[in-house]
Amino acid sequence: MKYDVVVVGAGPVGAIAARYSAKHGANTLIIEEHPHIGSPVQCTGIISTKALDECDLKPGSSFVYRNIRGANIYSPGCHCIKVDGGKTKAYVIDRKIFDRTLVAKALDEGADLILRTKAAALKNNKNGTVLTVRQNGTLQEIQTTVVIGADGIQSGIARMSGLGRVEKILSCIQVEGQYEIANADFVEIFLGNRVAPGFFAWVVPVTGSIARIGLCVNSSTRSAHQYLQKLLKEHSIVSARYHGSSTSMVVGGMPVGALKHTCTDAVLIAGDAAGQIKPTSGGGIYTGAVCARIAGEVASIGDASKKGLELYDTMWRKRIGKELTIGMYIHNTLGSFSDQRLDEFINIFDDQKIMDTVKQYGDMDHPSLLLRKIAPHLNKKQLFTFAGSIIRDFINSK
Ligand SMILES: Cc1cc2nc3c(=O)[nH]c(=O)nc-3n(C[C@H](O)[C@H](O)[C@H](O)COP(=O)(O)OP(=O)(O)OC[C@H]3O[C@@H](n4cnc5c(N)ncnc54)[C@H](O)[C@@H]3O)c2cc1C
Repeated sequence: MKYDVVVVGAGPVGAIAARYSAKHGANTLIIEEHPHIGSPVQCTGIISTKALDECDLKPGSSFVYRNIRGANIYSPGCHCIKVDGGKTKAYVIDRKIFDRTLVAKALDEGADLILRTKAAALKNNKNGTVLTVRQNGTLQEIQTTVVIGADGIQSGIARMSGLGRVEKILSCIQVEGQYEIANADFVEIFLGNRVAPGFFAWVVPVTGSIARIGLCVNSSTRSAHQYLQKLLKEHSIVSARYHGSSTSMVVGGMPVGALKHTCTDAVLIAGDAAGQIKPTSGGGIYTGAVCARIAGEVASIGDASKKGLELYDTMWRKRIGKELTIGMYIHNTLGSFSDQRLDEFINIFDDQKIMDTVKQYGDMDHPSLLLRKIAPHLNKKQLFTFAGSIIRDFINSK
């Protein structure tokens, strides 16, 4: 087999990369190790309106369950602030159908797809690159010019090409079950070291009385499973609303902090494989979609040299690099706060001027803009508590 571009992984990032590679004239193949697209699902399925646009999909699509316009955020002391976007800011989606829709778009552009085919090895030869794949127990070779590694958190392509692994991986768990949904167009977020150290817990309404309830924690802490059990059984708000049985469980990892290098000779890495995920929310679809499109377009040019492919690295960092870096400082800062500090942080938002700013500038894909707009409204103590910690983290990282 011979292709200009081979995309490893048919998740949203692989599908979008393949769509743009094929659209720009490259003979493109997607390989996927599983027998089905979009399964198993490891996602809460919240995507912003901007993410849907970036994927070139419509709000009325069949995979959209619900529109979301805001969040009720609970501090460790259970003080709630309501962040109301005033209009639809995000959607709750069915990831399986979403992923399949994206793959169908890639196929419409002329890409080929092979399922149950796992990338196993990568080597160079005089004609370019050879990807060895395992298909139904037998090894096959695919000759290609460029390989796009969109193979998720465990990326074999990043490892085989020497681009390494994402440094920090959060442990995540989520169940779907019956829950008394207080407000169907708001998600619930729970902060606190007793709830989800290093990150947060969430409840996302899906359909009727079904919600997705989950959390992520620093991998170094006790197991995410134990924290979820505590959340479901002991948390004053969640335990009172959760009906005690779930219909599905998802366990996974969230890679935060992008790879230092996302390309080398004949290889580009995109999406979770490259750690292109928002460290503030754990959302990877918007950021992955931005990078996937660039990866597909750059790969289609046909210059497989490292220098040629560096255009991808430069372009994606220009679009979202700063946001991911600032997001990482915010992630580290909030992750290091005691419960008392988190309570103080949430109290900052108990102010009409600040909430008006949140309503105007709040953007789940670009939290740095909000940070800049809020800063002038903070008093010295608040600035010291929050902004001071971010600056310290920034200096320590240098
Ligand atoms: C619990 C949880 C909740 C989340 N919730 C959200 C959310 O609400 N919103 C959001 O935006 N993001 C969310 N994310 C993150 C989001 O799921 C990922 O960022 C997104 O799926 C990344 O897409 P991807 O295509 O890079 O990787 P994946 O979706 O992981 O796709 C990678 C694909 O590559 C295939 N593959 C892997 N290795 C090989 C191989 N060797 N050969 C062939 N195929 C291979 C895999 O089978 C898979 O299909 C969540 C993550 C977790 C863990």
